[in-house]
Amino acid sequence: MKRELEVLIKEKREAVLLLDISLSQNQKVKDLLLDKPVGNLELDKYSKLLRENTPLKNIWFHVVDNKGISRYRSWTKEHGDSLRGVRLDIDSMIENPRVISSISTGKFDMTFKSMFPVYDEDKFLGFVETLAKFNSIVIKLQEYSFETIVLVDKNYKQQLTNTPSEKFIDDYYMSSFSGSKKLLELVLEKGVDYYINIENYVVDSDNSQLLCVYKLPDINGERMGYFIMGIDIEKIDTSTIQDSRERIILGLIIGFFMIGGFLLYLYVVNYKNYIQKQREELERSVAQKTEELREKSEAMTHLAHHDSLTNLPNRLYFHQKLQESIETALESDHNVGVLFLDLDGFKEINDTYGHRVGDILLQKITQKLRDGVSREDIVARLGGDEFTIIANKVTQNSLEGIAKRIITEIQKPIKVEDIELFVTFSIGLSLYPNDGDNPDLLLKYADTAMYRAKENGKNGYKFYNSIMTEIAMNKVELQNSIREAIQLEQFEPYYQPKVDARTNKVIGLEALVRWNHPQKGLIMPGEFIPFAEESGAIVEIDRLVVHKALRDMKLWYLEGLITGRLSLNISGKQLESISCVEKMESVIEKLGFDTKYLELEVTESQIIKNQTKAIAILQKFKELGVRIALDDFGTGYSSLSYLKNLPVESLKIDRSFIMDIPQDKDDVAIVKTIISLAKNLELDIIAEGVETEEQVELLMREGCYIIQGYYYSKPLNAKDCRIFLRANL
Ligand code: C2E
Ligand code: CA
Ligand code: CA
Repeated sequence: MKRELEVLIKEKREAVLLLDISLSQNQKVKDLLLDKPVGNLELDKYSKLLRENTPLKNIWFHVVDNKGISRYRSWTKEHGDSLRGVRLDIDSMIENPRVISSISTGKFDMTFKSMFPVYDEDKFLGFVETLAKFNSIVIKLQEYSFETIVLVDKNYKQQLTNTPSEKFIDDYYMSSFSGSKKLLELVLEKGVDYYINIENYVVDSDNSQLLCVYKLPDINGERMGYFIMGIDIEKIDTSTIQDSRERIILGLIIGFFMIGGFLLYLYVVNYKNYIQKQREELERSVAQKTEELREKSEAMTHLAHHDSLTNLPNRLYFHQKLQESIETALESDHNVGVLFLDLDGFKEINDTYGHRVGDILLQKITQKLRDGVSREDIVARLGGDEFTIIANKVTQNSLEGIAKRIITEIQKPIKVEDIELFVTFSIGLSLYPNDGDNPDLLLKYADTAMYRAKENGKNGYKFYNSIMTEIAMNKVELQNSIREAIQLEQFEPYYQPKVDARTNKVIGLEALVRWNHPQKGLIMPGEFIPFAEESGAIVEIDRLVVHKALRDMKLWYLEGLITGRLSLNISGKQLESISCVEKMESVIEKLGFDTKYLELEVTESQIIKNQTKAIAILQKFKELGVRIALDDFGTGYSSLSYLKNLPVESLKIDRSFIMDIPQDKDDVAIVKTIISLAKNLELDIIAEGVETEEQVELLMREGCYIIQGYYYSKPLNAKDCRIFLRANL
């Protein structure tokens, strides 16, 4: 029987060790020792589960770190205390981490004890200690009719400091007891010493008991504990012991499966948590990235829509906003006013005080303009010293009121870095729906009106209507006078040279139409082309211009002057009918002009109106040998895919992007982008509206060498152009 008990003890000891080992592999335990957040370790629940489902009745767990600090105890919430110098076995474990599996006596009891180190990679983090009482063995024995008293030797009395004193019998601590009081009475009667010295067994015939004792040694081989067992003689059945042993083993095996299951459960829960955490982490990072992208794209949209100096909407955005205002006004039957404002003498301020002062001045003016309009109105900056305002829901009078207010406000001195500056505005006004029904027209008219205001002595405003009356009493009258002017051939081309900045040689001329009015003098295209387009007279004007230009070119050629290619602006109207190609062809033939010296400048907006037809017509021109250039590039709605399909050979960077470089960093970026775009699409690139040396330098640095603008020359009439070309030889 003693041997059987030995086996039971050995097996339990192994069970405890196994439990200890499995816990030392647990990720949560590792995380706890790595100071990662683990929440509650909940090993108390674990021991409860074991108690309820396995023969392991009283199991405790203890996690201690590599400094000897108790990090978790399953039986109490207490932790954080240092056990160095308090428990010798812990000191030795820390100094020499290893597996300890023992039966030992501590403060509370004599227990099974396993200590198993925990490692992360190769780093010793601490260890898990598993403690178990003998109860389960005692209970097992009882089930098979054995009554048992487990005692701890009196030598351990000093160690058992946390035990109830009534559990001592003759200085021996009673660790466990089961069964009837009979055995206990016997032991009390004869004294512990008597029983623990029994060699094999004794028969107490008075009480018909068979008694034996099993002595449990400590690690030094000294006596530590005793199992005093008694059985009623009548109940002795040798098979029961074997049976009991088997059942204990079976119990332990079942227990192991349950523990395994529980560990699996712990693992799955951990794994699930891990997956959940990963998913949450992923979702968080996706959400974060999305937000970043959204912010970036918002920032980019803002950048594309706003002017960097004043943060006002730029031309593109202004156009959009004006379109929206027109649509709203159409529904609600309101008027929309457009103010075109241009500072008088800004260039002088810039030249005198420098760009810094100029920039601050523009910012202060922006503020004044904003203060001067209502919140629904839009103040925009087209570039340089040009501003526009969209005034919603106005009448002619209230629009005039806004202009007057701005003029008064802006006249007041503006202080920039101790300098008192005096500026004035020239303002042009146009009104929807009276003057026009689309943003282009309204802006153009307001612009024209602004020029009138300048001519009128600056520091004032002009309505577009008033200009109409100046040129002609009404539209019909104007259109009639255009027809008359065509008959009288009052339209003539002016020529603006295109220069290769590397050689300073003229490589081409752009023909720009002027109306040479006998009374009103030279009228610019902006003032009559919109009407000529409306009535269709533009086709005739263009024909006249082409005729005269080809004739001039031929004369210069015969004279030996180098003109390069002739660029013609053709109306969108021409792109509506294929017949224009034939007409052009016949003119060219008649004059004996080589088509390779001819280029047409068309804008994207002209093409977009009727893409298929326009592309077919341009294709025909191309077949004739005429080059096609995309004018005002960057102001339209170009998409790369569509650009690729156009039969164009050259891009012309719009003046609005050129005029503020190199100061305006956004515009510099746009210009660079357009140039590299042209290079990638293998298109020629030309810049128009170039006025300064700095602009030429920047463009050349970026690889754009063909330059057109006031820097080289204003558009010149035929006589002056001839002089220019001669000088250029
Ligand atoms: P566009 O084709 O974009 O012509 C460029 C305009 O910029 C011209 O205005 C030119 O005088 C001006 N310009 C050139 N260099 C500079 C510079 O350095 N600084 C400044 N501030 N301006 C510069 P223009 O002559 O008033 O022509 C206006 C528009 O009228 C042209 O724009 C073109 O769309 C149209 N146009 C001109 N001639 C004809 C023509 O014969 N037929 C047709 N259908 N349209 C024409
Ligand atoms: Ca042009
Ligand atoms: Ca242009």
